[in-house]
Amino acid sequence: MANSSIRYGASTRKRAAGVKQKKQAFYRCEACGKMTVKRIGTSIWRCRHCNATYAGGAYTMTTPEGEVARRLIAGIKK
Ligand SMILES: [Zn+2]
Repeated sequence: MANSSIRYGASTRKRAAGVKQKKQAFYRCEACGKMTVKRIGTSIWRCRHCNATYAGGAYTMTTPEGEVARRLIAGIKK
């Protein structure tokens, strides 16, 4: 009975490892179409091919919040 609490710690560590993997992924650039967009900061993504900069989610590029932020940046940028 006393051992049941140990299992919760193991499942939390597994979830954290999954987030780390997503951070390393490359995403497709909307400007040049290449899979060269990489996360360079919290919610900031940049294409290594054409240097286009996007605002997205903290860990992936595809969040509803990111869509809004991306439109804002596109409006500011020349
Ligand atoms: Zn690009």
